[in-house]
Amino acid sequence: MRDDAPVRFGAVEAGGTKFVCLIGSSPDDVVAHTRIPTRDPQQTLAEVVSFFKEAAGPPPAAVGIASFGPVELRMGNPRYGYITATPKPGWTDTDLVGPIGSALGVPVGFDTDVAGAALGEGRWGAARGLSTFVYMTVGTGIGAAAVIGGRSAAGLGHAEMGHISVPRQPGDDFPGACPFHRDCLEGMAAGGTLAARFGRPAEDLDGADLEQAVAWEAGYLAAGLRTIVYTIAPERIVIGGSIPNLPGLFPLLRTALVDALAGYGA
Ligand code: ZN
Repeated sequence: MRDDAPVRFGAVEAGGTKFVCLIGSSPDDVVAHTRIPTRDPQQTLAEVVSFFKEAAGPPPAAVGIASFGPVELRMGNPRYGYITATPKPGWTDTDLVGPIGSALGVPVGFDTDVAGAALGEGRWGAARGLSTFVYMTVGTGIGAAAVIGGRSAAGLGHAEMGHISVPRQPGDDFPGACPFHRDCLEGMAAGGTLAARFGRPAEDLDGADLEQAVAWEAGYLAAGLRTIVYTIAPERIVIGGSIPNLPGLFPLLRTALVDALAGYGA
C-alpha cells in the first residue's frame, strides 16, 4: 500500500429492494461495490458486514448508512440508528447502526436515504460548495431533505416536505393518492399518482396525456417549491428521481416557480 493512499469510507444505501454498499474516498475512487437483495434483516445485514470484511485492502475508516424509513435519528434515543415503524415486512424496529458498527469496529453515520443523497450532492454533486440547499426526489413518492449550514436538518424526526399542502391545479379533479392526506404534494405529483391518474406509468405517457401531466406536474412542484423557498431560503434546490425526466418539465417548472414567487423574496 502506498503511504499516500486516501482514507476510504464505507457507504450503505439501505433500500426496500436492495442494499448498495461500496468502499471508496470519492466517486472517482470506488474500490469495491456490491448490491445485496433486501431479504430479512439478519441475513441482509450479515451480507453487508461480510462485504466490508472481505473486501481487499484496509477496512473502511468509518461507514455511512442512508436508509429507507422511517428511521430514528435522535442520537440520545435508545433506538437511534433503527428503522422504526416501516410497512416493509420483517423490518419494523431493526437496528442498522448497532450490528454494522460492532461487527466492523468503526464509527457509523446514519441518516435517511434522501438526506444521504442531499449530502452527496453537497459534497460532490449539484450543490457543491453550498451550505444551505434542498435535495428533492420525485419518483414513486416525493421526499426532500434540507442541508442547513452544512448539516442535514433533523429535529424530532426528518422533514416530510413531500407531504406539504399544495393548491389544486385548475381543472384537476383527481382526489389524490396519499393514504394520509389525499391531495398533498406527493398525493398529487408523485410517479404513483401519475400512474393512477392516467392508467399507465409516467414513462409511457405521450401525446395529450403527457402534455397534461407535465403541466400539472410543473404546477404542483412549483407550488411545493414555493413553500420550501419561503421557509428555508435555500441557495439551490436540486431535483432528482424519475419524474423530472418527463420531456419539457424542467423549463416549465422554472417558469412556474418564478410565477409562483411573483417577484417576492430574494
Ligand atoms: Zn401526504
